[in-house]
Amino acid sequence: MQDLLEDIAARALGAEDRGKVADYIPELAKVDPNQLGISVATADGELFSAGNAQTPFSIQSISKVFVLALALGQVGEALWKRVGREPSGQAFDSILLLEREKGIPRNPFINAGALVTTDTFLGSASPREALGALIRFIRAASDQEDIHINDAVARSELETAHRNFALAHYMRSYGNLQNSPDLVLGTYCHQCAIEMTCEQLALAGRFLLDTSDAPSLVSPVRKRRINALMMTCGHYDGSGDFAFRVGLPGKSGVGGGILVIAPGRGSVAVWSPGLNGYGNSKLGTEAMEVFARKTGWSIFG
Ligand code: GLU
Repeated sequence: MQDLLEDIAARALGAEDRGKVADYIPELAKVDPNQLGISVATADGELFSAGNAQTPFSIQSISKVFVLALALGQVGEALWKRVGREPSGQAFDSILLLEREKGIPRNPFINAGALVTTDTFLGSASPREALGALIRFIRAASDQEDIHINDAVARSELETAHRNFALAHYMRSYGNLQNSPDLVLGTYCHQCAIEMTCEQLALAGRFLLDTSDAPSLVSPVRKRRINALMMTCGHYDGSGDFAFRVGLPGKSGVGGGILVIAPGRGSVAVWSPGLNGYGNSKLGTEAMEVFARKTGWSIFG
């Protein structure tokens, strides 16, 4: 495993086309694209890493996985009245389907759906309380204390979050947002600005493994469902492509991170800031493709 990860990291750093770093959030545009880290936390508790696996990065939409788990913990199946479970086939911040589908977003991993899960998780708590609970959940899942929110990134996103505000107001007009768009967006931008290293993220992902050694923070049924949604919706309109190339549930973020779950085997985190046309890490996706092929880890046997 160690040799494989080092080989993947070395190969990626030699790549000519590294994709394009997200620049619509000004603070993210400053990140050096010449980085790739990869970590594997196995089901039985081993940790392997290579490349820039100890460098903290902005987890962005990977936070949607943790918030979904918490929102389901709060309201259970009632969540599905407010958000669907179908791939959208649209970009992460698209507003297109919301009008046709009367303010009910397609799934919890596109931005509109994530705003609903954040609103649900927020409930009647303050953003500070909700974010505190989220950080505690991630620290418990990873057994790592040193996980924080980068306030500069949160502020930078909040100042430029015009599309996300549009989505929130639109859903609020349909009664599908309980809190004000200001409160929801304030919480959402801070959850996206959580920083983690590949090692911390791979360890945190173990809460979605179906083995007895994994942290038991959600029920087995819920783990299966979250994994199913990651498989079908975790990479926006590139979800089918990721499933085809990697064959494992994954969730990407525009910070360049991807969390991948190999049921029964382990949790993998890869990070490289340059994105492909879908807004998913370019080298990260390629690294995962090689990883899955070489290890044979797949949900398809
Ligand atoms: N904070 C980002 C946004 O809402 C998350 C998108 C992503 O990571 O894919 O625009």
